[in-house]
Amino acid sequence: MTTFGHPERVARLDAALAGSRRAGFREETPEVNEAAVLQAVTRIHDPSLPERLRKACERAPAFFDSADNPISPGTYRAAVAAVACALEGLERLRMGEASRVFAAIRPPGHHATRSQAMGFCFFNNVAVVAEAACSRGLGPVAIVDFDVHHGNGTQELFYRRDDVFYLSVHRYPFYPGTGGADEVGVGQGRGFTRNFPLAAGADDDTYVGALSYGLEELAKTMTPELWLVSAGFDAHELDPLGGMAVTTAGFARIGKLLAEAAAGKPLLAVLEGGYHLKALEDSVAAFLGAL
Ligand SMILES: [Zn+2]
Repeated sequence: MTTFGHPERVARLDAALAGSRRAGFREETPEVNEAAVLQAVTRIHDPSLPERLRKACERAPAFFDSADNPISPGTYRAAVAAVACALEGLERLRMGEASRVFAAIRPPGHHATRSQAMGFCFFNNVAVVAEAACSRGLGPVAIVDFDVHHGNGTQELFYRRDDVFYLSVHRYPFYPGTGGADEVGVGQGRGFTRNFPLAAGADDDTYVGALSYGLEELAKTMTPELWLVSAGFDAHELDPLGGMAVTTAGFARIGKLLAEAAAGKPLLAVLEGGYHLKALEDSVAAFLGAL
């Protein structure tokens, strides 16, 4: 449980789950195999990160790596469970038991870098799944991130690679400061990162339009076998942090776009941000309903 009145709080999960139920998604709580999670996490993160977090939680409440990241005695377990849930989603897709999976998880992940927690994130859930997928031969992978914040951690982790495409639409300039349109990857990864920075106050047409354009660009570069989505709902007009003007209907349009882009390929969406509880529930329901 986060402390200090933090916006990234337990009630978010109830809201996201209520939204996914409304969309008719079947709900399951996977087993947590800590050893398997750590193996997957350390494929993408510095091996010292999970152990540092586990030890720090023994001395909680405290902050971890950043003033944005308060921890409680349960934070390590929650972060491990979040990854376990996302990996289980990948497994369901791999087994052909589902074609669209939503991992309603917290803490979120897309700001976590190789060695550092930041921006409410500890382990980069979507990046861990992308790496697990590539190592199982399930790539190439597209990661589409529509959270209002740029996923600096995800971008950094795959910036030099051509087997994982990272596409982000976000407010800019804004936290965490990265995500300019000129950040497109390097080396063999050049062209496999695309950023669509938007000014504060972007509405449905602007936000969805940027995503639509980004998906067209992605399609020119890669034919993904697997779609991963960093599904953040903090671009909603009611969100206390985002400063954008996307409506609940806008998230339905985003779901429809992604459903069309992924077509017959498997898709796993993982929860990132979204800090207004009612807007989060409604947006998850709209997004998953369209998906
Ligand atoms: Zn966010």
